[in-house]
Amino acid sequence: MTRESDALISHCPQCGSQALTWPSPKHFSCADCGFVLYLNCAAAVAVIMECQGKILFGVRKHEPQLGMLDLPGGFVDQGESAEEAVRREVQEELGIAIHDMRYLFSFPNKYRYRGIEYDTLDLIFLARWDEPPAVKAADDLADALWVSHDAVEYDKIGFGSLRRAVRRYLEIEYPGLEGGCP
Ligand SMILES: [Zn+2]
Repeated sequence: MTRESDALISHCPQCGSQALTWPSPKHFSCADCGFVLYLNCAAAVAVIMECQGKILFGVRKHEPQLGMLDLPGGFVDQGESAEEAVRREVQEELGIAIHDMRYLFSFPNKYRYRGIEYDTLDLIFLARWDEPPAVKAADDLADALWVSHDAVEYDKIGFGSLRRAVRRYLEIEYPGLEGGCP
């Protein structure tokens, strides 16, 4: 079984043995002490913030995808719901509170950080405003931009999962939304 983590995890964390086998891409076991570790998919959230025909994009301040467009969001913490993660991340990154949101759909993603590729499942939410909230980019975001639907440049969106999410939202979900264009 090939996986980049094969080379990165060369010793058993419990006994130090190098007799590791990878029965599947997502778990390894130690032949000497029986230690088993599953490298499960991490949950992450992203929110499409919609106002007056525009979507809010963040500009990434850090690797991976430094300088590329992003949706507000991030990894779900242990013990946290997806909705709580959305509220926390939007508060941290934009300084505003989200009250109403609805779940749209999910896409898998790969998140490379310091040489390790993490598998994530990105849960996409929608939050809409009648008037643009006063956002201030912070934390992982260098800037925040409202972009008209027809001006979205997909190749500037850093993560494949979020490119797919914005495309699906604009081309499939959005035209069918109750009440049409805000
Ligand atoms: Zn071991």
